[in-house]
Amino acid sequence: LPVVAIVGRPNVGKSTLFNRIINERLAIVEDEPGVTRDRNYAPAEWMGHKFDLIDTGGITWEDGRIEEEIRAQAEIAIEEADVIVMLTSVVNGVTDLDERVAQLLYKTKKPVILAVNKADNPEQRANIYDFYSLGLGDPIPVSGSHGTGIGDLLDEIIAKFPEEKDNKSDDTISFSVIGRPNVGKSSIVNKLLGENRVIVANEEGTTRDAIDTPFTDDEGDKFRLIDTAGIRRRGKVYEKTEKYSVMRALSAIERSDVVCLVLDASTGIREQDKRVAGYAHEAGRGIIIVVNKWDMPKKNSGSAKDFEQVIRQEFQYLDYAPILFVSAKTGQRLDQIPKMVKRVNKNQTQRIQSSVLNDLLFEASKLVPTPMIKGKRLRVYYMTQVATNPPTFVVFVNDPELMHFSYERFLINQLRDNFDFTGTPIKVIARKRK
Ligand code: GDP
Repeated sequence: LPVVAIVGRPNVGKSTLFNRIINERLAIVEDEPGVTRDRNYAPAEWMGHKFDLIDTGGITWEDGRIEEEIRAQAEIAIEEADVIVMLTSVVNGVTDLDERVAQLLYKTKKPVILAVNKADNPEQRANIYDFYSLGLGDPIPVSGSHGTGIGDLLDEIIAKFPEEKDNKSDDTISFSVIGRPNVGKSSIVNKLLGENRVIVANEEGTTRDAIDTPFTDDEGDKFRLIDTAGIRRRGKVYEKTEKYSVMRALSAIERSDVVCLVLDASTGIREQDKRVAGYAHEAGRGIIIVVNKWDMPKKNSGSAKDFEQVIRQEFQYLDYAPILFVSAKTGQRLDQIPKMVKRVNKNQTQRIQSSVLNDLLFEASKLVPTPMIKGKRLRVYYMTQVATNPPTFVVFVNDPELMHFSYERFLINQLRDNFDFTGTPIKVIARKRK
């Protein structure tokens, strides 16, 4: 999805505008249940165009100096966004800080839209012409608190989106390497790219593609490694903030077919590992658990079997994720990563014929009786696959209310026992037969 970032000096009303834009979308589309979203990073939609919105000002910094804050905001926007909205306010006219923000944004080739907030009445709207002096083109008057001008701004934003490029039309598999700091993500990425053939040919399109690295493995299969948290370009101020790294992981997960969640064998599992894992699971992507630093003395993890048990215990919802024990340092088993990514991608995109599914349903019905609620028994008629990635199955029944969680679980296990769904979540939905 295209990413839009709002940048600007403090107190111009960035979060009010952010909430306005988010709400425009929430009015039409229900929020997905169970998906934890960072407040400063949210899905939005205008006229059928979906995008992700970042309020860079909502990200907090250890070092509270305004200059630093503004520089970091601009860096995030320049790096992450497809369209940047510079927000200022008509109340104080053009300030030194506005000029500073504008200067930072001159560096980018990405489209920058200048919006002037707090233009609540015609008199104030007349004052926006001063803002031409910022050199960012036509200023658009908006009022975050009154909600005026937001539509015009959104029209302008979507008009600047990059041409939609269908990444799915080719057979490239997108995957990312995510995890908390210091688990060895960049070491893994560098080794993987070092050992495989990196295609240097420049892909046309957005700058974001330049951050992602395409490569082929020794079997000639094509991958795109999605860069997370500036893995290969370090030392930016903002990378220290946890909120930012979570946001970055979220955006990488969304763009991936398969996510490799890296854990550190030398430290064991931490709270932050669980949070990142939760995001990946909820996004419905393929997941591989990669236990790195397997070369180190296993103080915290014991044998592979012991550590696997701990992982299964701590990440019960990821019971479908395969586990690889690797070492980025020695290179041990790193070649298993692209192999497993391929297998998981094959599994998440497979389609199973309805006739085969119905045989399975028939056999399953002989194994376990269907649930009965208040004297009424669930009747299962037929099953069909309605989507891939993740594989989604609809079961037609007499009454969806009777589809007990445990029976849904049973059907999912039957699917897993009969087909290779390693690494991918599966969804089963009950529908009333008409
Ligand atoms: P990132 O923050 O997740 O990208 O982690 P880095 O790749 O920067 O690695 C953090 C530290 O762990 C560095 O000092 C690496 O040298 C070290 N490291 C990474 N992978 C391994 C490994 O497989 N074995 C050992 N012993 N050290 C590793």
